[in-house]
Amino acid sequence: MTKPKHEILPPGSVIGILGGGQLGRMTALAAARLGYRSHIYCPGADEPACQVTSLSTQAAYDDEQALAAFAESVDVVTFEFENVPSRTAEILAERVAVHPGPHILHICQNRLREKDFLASIQIPTTRYTEVAGPEAVQRALRDLGAPVILKSCDFGYDGKGQVLLRNETVAAEAWEEMRRHAPQSNGVMEGFVDFTCEISVIAARGRDGTLTTYPAVENQHRERILDQTLVPARIPTDVADKAEVLARHIAEEMGLVGLIAVEMFVTQDNRVLVNEMAPRPHNSGHWSMDACYTPQFEQLVRAVTGLPLGSTERHSDAVMRNLIGAQSKDWYEILSDPTARLHLYGKAEARPGRKMGHVNKLIPRR
Ligand code: AMP
Repeated sequence: MTKPKHEILPPGSVIGILGGGQLGRMTALAAARLGYRSHIYCPGADEPACQVTSLSTQAAYDDEQALAAFAESVDVVTFEFENVPSRTAEILAERVAVHPGPHILHICQNRLREKDFLASIQIPTTRYTEVAGPEAVQRALRDLGAPVILKSCDFGYDGKGQVLLRNETVAAEAWEEMRRHAPQSNGVMEGFVDFTCEISVIAARGRDGTLTTYPAVENQHRERILDQTLVPARIPTDVADKAEVLARHIAEEMGLVGLIAVEMFVTQDNRVLVNEMAPRPHNSGHWSMDACYTPQFEQLVRAVTGLPLGSTERHSDAVMRNLIGAQSKDWYEILSDPTARLHLYGKAEARPGRKMGHVNKLIPRR
């Protein structure tokens, strides 16, 4: 085999992970399997990711001294959630490779920048407009036509900072409600999509530019939090193919190294509209831990260390069910099905709405 031109981090190297949640935990476990060490950087103590690796730094994301020391101690940096300040990623990138790059974090952590980027590369999205106050909300309600959704540009996830507006909604009240969640943030108003289903595709791109995608999966939400992922999505093959093409195009145009999850709506007339993106492992990819040759977490490790990407083919169909809050207390019953693949995140307190774990059910492939 000819030696590749890009840098390869050999097993034994240290992967720095910004964020201490379950995505970091599962990334660190996948890294360990390939002989890498992981160093978690997060503000909290006893976070899920810190429980599975001996290297961690507990410090604020704007602690420049701690960031410099962290950069010294790792060979590459990745992140497990996109609300890390992009300045943090920039400080690190001056000292060590950060994948995905800070420019990708910058795009994906703001809904307006995200939609503008998608529009600039001809990716279809919902109709949208920026709003900076209640008057603009009123105007957008009139222009886009109810129902519309007001979303905060910053710090939005799992439906947080979102308000559904109907004709009778008072614009000022909707604005206030959004601002309660994200006090400094402007908003984006977007047309309500009467979708047939919500799907997502995860694309991975390696240091050498190789691209792989996982198949399109169907996501069912309850109270705006992912409840179940069905694999594959129950959509026509050409729609699934279209979704994969969009995800590949995004990954390529961004110059991604790492993973990107692209969430999309399938409309009644089988158009595919991109809703949002996350440049990291994603909840809708957890099924791949048990049903694929290469789980998404391992694919991320391979991508950022320069290893060849693995096969994203699935050997089984699957249903992934999230265990939210008290649902995780059913672990004994879940395990009474000997084929259930249970994953718990080590969180002490099962608060309502908190993702505590997930369970994968494998189904022979159709
Ligand atoms: P998001 O935080 O953008 O993923 O939104 C959370 C959930 O709200 C989505 O998974 C959809 O179920 C719903 N949603 C968001 N935007 C729209 C939209 N424009 N039209 C219809 N439903 C939406």
